[in-house]
Amino acid sequence: MQNSKSVEDQCLMKTKKLAEHNARQKQQNPEAYAAKRKASYLRSKIKRREAVFAKLGLQCECCGESDIRFLTVEHKLNDGAEDRKIRSHEKLYRDILKMNEIEMHEQFETLCMLCNFAKGLYKICPHREAENGEENQ
Ligand SMILES: [Zn+2]
Ligand SMILES: [Zn+2]
Repeated sequence: MQNSKSVEDQCLMKTKKLAEHNARQKQQNPEAYAAKRKASYLRSKIKRREAVFAKLGLQCECCGESDIRFLTVEHKLNDGAEDRKIRSHEKLYRDILKMNEIEMHEQFETLCMLCNFAKGLYKICPHREAENGEENQ
C-alpha cells in the first residue's frame, strides 16, 4: 500500500497536466482546439449509436438495411413527436442503453431512415404496403 499514494499523486499530476495542456491549446489555437473537441464529441456520439443498435438490432426491421449509418430508432407506440419534445436524441440513446430489453423492445425498434421517414409521413412504409397488397390478392 506504500505505493498507492504516489500512484494517486501521479494520476492527479497527469490530470492536472492534461487540463493545463488543454487550457494552453485552447488559448494558443482556439479553432484547432474547438475542432478537436468537436471530433471527439462526434466520436462519442458514434460510439453511443453503435452501442444502441447493438442492443436494439443491427438492421432495419422493415427492409433489412444493415448499414449502421442509415439506422434510426423508431418509436413503436407512435409517440415519437411527443418524445422529441421532452428529450433529445442523445438522452433517448442514453435511456435505451439503461433500459431492460423487454421494455426497450416494447417501445422501440430499428428502422432505417427511409422506412422511418416513409412510415412517419404515410403511416405505413411502402415496403409493407407492397407486402400487404400481395397478401390481399
Ligand atoms: Zn428500411
Ligand atoms: Zn420499409
